[in-house]
Amino acid sequence: MTDATPPRHVHTTCVQGGYRPSSGEPRTVPLIQSTTFKYDSSEAMGALFDLEASGYFYTRLQNPTNDMVAAKICELEGGAAAMLTASGQAASFFALFNICSAGDHIVSSSAIYGGTYNLIAVTMRRMGITCSFVHPDCSPEELDAAFRPNTKALFAETIANPALIVLDFEKFASAASRHGVPFMVDNTFPTPVNCRPFEHGAHIVVHSTTKYMDGHATSVGGAIVDSGSFDWQAHAEKYPGLTTPDESYHGVVYIERFGAGAFITKATTQLMRDLGATPSPANSFYLNSHLESLAVRMERHCANAQRVAEFLLDDERVSWVRYPGLPGDPYYALAQQYLPQGTCGVVSFGVKGGRDKVTAFTDSLRLASIATHVADARTCVLYPAGTTHRQMSDAELVAAGVAPDLIRLSVGLEDPNDLIADLAQALRHAS
Ligand code: PLP
Repeated sequence: MTDATPPRHVHTTCVQGGYRPSSGEPRTVPLIQSTTFKYDSSEAMGALFDLEASGYFYTRLQNPTNDMVAAKICELEGGAAAMLTASGQAASFFALFNICSAGDHIVSSSAIYGGTYNLIAVTMRRMGITCSFVHPDCSPEELDAAFRPNTKALFAETIANPALIVLDFEKFASAASRHGVPFMVDNTFPTPVNCRPFEHGAHIVVHSTTKYMDGHATSVGGAIVDSGSFDWQAHAEKYPGLTTPDESYHGVVYIERFGAGAFITKATTQLMRDLGATPSPANSFYLNSHLESLAVRMERHCANAQRVAEFLLDDERVSWVRYPGLPGDPYYALAQQYLPQGTCGVVSFGVKGGRDKVTAFTDSLRLASIATHVADARTCVLYPAGTTHRQMSDAELVAAGVAPDLIRLSVGLEDPNDLIADLAQALRHAS
């Protein structure tokens, strides 16, 4: 963005952010479906390998289409630098592994997506990186107590999947600041349309773009956005990967050479180079098309979810409803504080009568399809106790934080009257 560019509102950034064509250039983000890029001299290409010139040489590291779409997400979040990854899992892993090595420690909210929990608790542990999980509603003292001298990051989700717990940003951001570590936030559920974590003290944001950003169930993907606001030099001894020479790049010191772009440059040049979780440019092209309608879609997802949650709340066959947009919800106040325009389209609730009734309900839905996905234009439903967690007893489910009658409904973009009619007929079948 040049200095002459006026400030943009989120709807405009969704449509036009990240790519500003010059005269005669393609109006839409061009799809550069090429693995490689040609040079006239070895010297010119060599400068790229030395990180002395910027440019493209191999799509595993960087590709123009991927970068243009990353730039749009960067603008939406108000960040300094961003990169796309092949999945949300890769984004969370790269963001953490970029600054954590064997022997290091992370503090994380326990209310996070199950795949991220497994990544941190099992896979990263096998790499020698340990984690203390804290409930997001813990006291500031309990949060402080989780930190150790070797803690390198604090991780949480803005709206936890599937618990729908809204993060107390102030509590988490102040703990990160007291302990001198970056605060990383998975902002997948609200998207930057409804919450911009950098405005509430986060330093790094990750996304599963597979969810609302793509929103049409076409492309798995992820993104990392750095605010550029964490002072790595002030904690140089903790983050040698950013503040001391990288011998694999002829001694470049990322923070000195790249400033606010240091974190993303290091993740690109080291982690993409070595681990290669690169998105296909074609997927990024789809993602960009879908980002154009993100702000419009989020408004509709939230309005529909609010209507559906209010309908469920009034139905006597429904045992409980959780949606942070409901005034009686335990996270209503935090949602009003941090996400006043809306939260997301996911509602969770219970149906009275045990597993058979719940299954009868979900199987009777005609518009809402049974799927393990969320955040899609099409309404979908998941009954964990009858599907993903079916091997668990009710007691085991409660211990795992999943109510035995929990139904997760991802409210789509259909007409809310049709969705409510569908829920009503399925409730009749189940009663
Ligand atoms: N973060 C959240 C909040 C998610 O819901 C998911 C997936 O459901 C992920 C991360 C992982 O993303 P992906 O499936 O794109 O790897």
